[in-house]
Amino acid sequence: MVFKRLSTRLSVLYGALFAFGLLMTALTGYFSVVNNARQTAQSELQASARVFQRVWSDRTEVQSAGALLLAHDTDFRQAMLDQDAATVSEDFAILQKRIKADMGFVIGADGQPVQGRGDPVAMAVAAALQDARVGKVQTGVITVASRPYQVVAMPVLKTYGGPDRLGWVVFVSQLDAVEMQTLQTLASAPATASILTQTRGGLWMDGSGQGNVYAVDALSFFVDNSLRTGAAGPLSARGGQAIAFATRLQTLGADQKSVLLLSYPLKAALRDYQPVISALALIGALGLVFIILASLYLSRSLSRPIQDLTKAARALREGGAGQIDIVARYEMGELAEAFNDMAASMQAREQDITRLAKCDPATGLPNRSAFEDHLRALHDSDAAEQGGVAIVCIGVDRYTHIRAVWGVAYGHSLMTRLQEILGGIFAKAYIARLSGDTLGLCLTPCAAAQAMPLARAIAARLDKRIRVTEDQSLDVRVSLGVYHVGKTRGATDDCVERALIALDQARAAKVKVASFDPRVYSELADTLLLTDQLHAALQNRDMMVYYQPKFSYREGRITSVEALVRWSHAERGFVSPQRFVAIAEETGAIRDLTLQVLQTCIDDQKRLKAAGFDLDVSINYSGRLLSDDAFNQRTLRLCQQAVGRICLEITETAVIDDPKIGLAAINTFVDAGLEISIDDFGTGLSSLAYLKQIPAHELKIDRAFVMEIESGQRDALVVRSSIDLAHGLGMKVTAEGVETRAAFTLLQAMGCDLAQGYGIARPMPYDALGPFLTDFNGVVGGADASPNGQRFASR
Ligand code: C2E
Ligand code: CA
Ligand code: CA
Repeated sequence: MVFKRLSTRLSVLYGALFAFGLLMTALTGYFSVVNNARQTAQSELQASARVFQRVWSDRTEVQSAGALLLAHDTDFRQAMLDQDAATVSEDFAILQKRIKADMGFVIGADGQPVQGRGDPVAMAVAAALQDARVGKVQTGVITVASRPYQVVAMPVLKTYGGPDRLGWVVFVSQLDAVEMQTLQTLASAPATASILTQTRGGLWMDGSGQGNVYAVDALSFFVDNSLRTGAAGPLSARGGQAIAFATRLQTLGADQKSVLLLSYPLKAALRDYQPVISALALIGALGLVFIILASLYLSRSLSRPIQDLTKAARALREGGAGQIDIVARYEMGELAEAFNDMAASMQAREQDITRLAKCDPATGLPNRSAFEDHLRALHDSDAAEQGGVAIVCIGVDRYTHIRAVWGVAYGHSLMTRLQEILGGIFAKAYIARLSGDTLGLCLTPCAAAQAMPLARAIAARLDKRIRVTEDQSLDVRVSLGVYHVGKTRGATDDCVERALIALDQARAAKVKVASFDPRVYSELADTLLLTDQLHAALQNRDMMVYYQPKFSYREGRITSVEALVRWSHAERGFVSPQRFVAIAEETGAIRDLTLQVLQTCIDDQKRLKAAGFDLDVSINYSGRLLSDDAFNQRTLRLCQQAVGRICLEITETAVIDDPKIGLAAINTFVDAGLEISIDDFGTGLSSLAYLKQIPAHELKIDRAFVMEIESGQRDALVVRSSIDLAHGLGMKVTAEGVETRAAFTLLQAMGCDLAQGYGIARPMPYDALGPFLTDFNGVVGGADASPNGQRFASR
C-alpha cells in the first residue's frame, strides 16, 4: 500500500478526481476556443482566397479583352499571315503599353515566339500552347524555373470563327513576392499567400524564389482534401502550427499542378483569444488550489475522528481514561459515544477488580497484597530511613476451632473486632488481614528496641475476653511475630514473610511474642534442602540399618536387636535420624523408609539364622503409619516372610493421638503374630486404663528415666513402678539407655527383663553383628550364668 494513512489516500483520491474533472473542463474550454479561432481564421482565409481570385480574373479579363481586340484587328491578322514581324511587334507593343502587362509576346503560326525567342518563359508558354485547342482563349498558371506566372493567351485566327490559327497573342503577369504582398494587403486576415507548384518528384515548391520546399506529408492533407473540396486544413510547415487554405489554380498545360496557399499561424489566430485562454488557465489554477485545499479538509474531517478513536484506544491500552471529545457528527459521533461508554465501563470494571484484588472480601479489610503495596510505598517514600518499620503479625490461636464452633461469620467478626481494637491503639498504623487467622500491623516510625515491647503490649491488650458481637464474648488468645526493618533499605517483599515466620516461631516455641530469628529461618531453609536430599537417598537406597543388641537378664545373653536407620550423606556425614525421620513423617516419605528398613531387617534376620543366630528383631514403626490401612496390610505381608520374631516399636504418644484407629491397627498386627512394643514409655501421659487396652508384649522405659536412675530417687521409683505395672499387665520390660554398670545391676534387681544401651553395645552395622554375638554370647553361654556384671565392667 503506497499511502499508509487514510487521510492521505482520501486527499489523493479526491484531489485526483476533482483535478481530472477540472482538467476536462479546461481542455474542453481551450479546444472550443481554439476551434472557434480556427474556424474564424478559415472563413477569413476563404474570403481572402475569393478576393484574390476576383483580382486575378479581373486582370485576366482586361488582358483578354485587349488581346481579343488585337487578334480581331484585320491589319494585324494580315501582318501575321504575312509573317511581317516588324508590323506584328509594333502593333503588339502599342497594346502591351495600354494594358500594362509585365510581359507579352506573340507566337507565330510556327508555334514559336515572333520576338524574344531566347526567353525561357516565352519558350515554355509556346510549348504549353502547342496542343491547345484552336479557337479558345487559354488562361492559367505556368511555372518556369521555379517561378510562377499567369498567362492569358488569345488565339489569332485566319478568318473569324475559322479553323486556321495564325498564332497567339500572350500576356504574362509575374506572380512574384511583390504580387503576393499586394494581394496580402487586400486580404482581411494577415495571411501569407504563396503559389505552390508540384514538382516532378511530387514535392511542392513555392514561388518565392527562395526555393522553399514542402514535403508531400505536410501538404498531403490539404492537397488531397482541399484541392477537391476546397476545405482548409492545418499546416505544419515553416515552424509552428498554422491554419491554411489551399485553392487549386488553373494551369497552362496539363502536366503541371499549382495551388494558391493562404496560411495563417495558429498563434496569430489565437492572439485575440489570449485573454480568454489566460482567464481559463487562471481559473484552472485557482480551482486546482481550491480542490487541493478542499480535499485536504474533507479527508481530514473524515479521518480525524478515526485518528481520535485510535489515539483513545491506545490511551485505554496504556491504562489512561481513553475518552474522546465528541466533535464528529453522524455515524462517527455515535461511534465515539459508544467508545466512550465502553472505555468508561472498562475502567469501572478494572477499578472493581483492583479493589477486590487488594481487599479481604469478608471483612473489607486490606489483604496481604495491599499490605505489601503499603510497605513498598513506605520503602519508596524513605519512611524506613527515618527510624525503621515494625511489622507485627497477630495470629489468633485455635482459629479453626473457633470457626468450627461459632461459624465462619463469627470468625470474620472476630478479626474485624481485633482490627478495631488495634486501630484504637495505633491510630496511624496500617492494618491488614494477611490470612484467615492473622492480622498484619505496620508501625512506623518504630525503632528496633521499641518493637518487642510494643508487641508485648498488644498481646496483653488482646489476650482477654473480648466482646465480638452484641451478645457474645470470647476468650481470645493470640501469638505475635515481629520483624523490624531497619534503616538499611531491604527488599520489602519478604518482610511480611519474615514476620509470619516469626509468628510460626513463637507458636513452635510456645511463647506469646517472637522476633524473627534468622538462624531458625536458615534452619528452615536447610530443612527444605534436606527434604530433597532425603527423597533422593530413598530413591537410591542409600539408607543403611544398624542393629543395637538387647541383653536378656533371664537368659544371660543377647536375644534380640533393635533396628535403627542410618543415613550417611556425602557432604553432611551421618544425619541424625531424629531429624530426618521427622521430615519423612511430614512428607510421607516415612512409608518408603519403613519398607526399606523392614525389608533389610527380614533379609538380615534370615542371614543371621543361617549363620546360627536366632534373634528377635525390633523395628521402629511410626505412629503416623498406624492410620494407613493399606500400608499396615503391606507391612503384614512383608513380615510373614520373616524367619524369626518381628516386633514393632510404637511410640506411646502415637497410639494416644488417635486411640481408636491406633488400637485397631495394633490388634490386626497382634492377630497376625507380630509383637508390639510400647516405645519411649514415660514421655507421654497415658492413663493406666488406656494402657490396659493395648495388647502389647513389651514396654520400653524411656532412656531419660533410665539414665537418671542412679542419681534421682523419683526416676528410680517411676522405673520400678513401670516394671511392676508392665508385669501386672503381662508385658516384659526393656530398659533403654543403659550406660553404666550400676544401672545395669539396679535394673536387674528391679526385675527388668531386658537391657539396651551403650553399656552393652552401640548400634552396629550388620557385618559387625555376627562377630559381636559370637564373642559376647559365646563367652557368656560358655561360662555359668552369673558373670554378666563382670562382662559388663570389662567393656
Ligand atoms: P528410639 O526408638 O528411642 O531409639 C533409641 C535411640 O537411643 C537410638 O538413637 C539409639 O542410638 C539411642 N541409644 C541407645 N542406647 C543409648 C545409650 O546408652 N545412651 C544414649 N544416650 N542413647 C542410646 P537413634 O538411632 O539416634 O534414633 C533416634 C530415634 O529415631 C529413635 O528413637 C526412633 O524413634 C527413631 N528411629 C530410628 N530408626 C528408625 C526407623 O527405622 N524407623 C522409625 N520410624 N524411627 C526410627
Ligand atoms: Ca525404638
Ligand atoms: Ca525409645
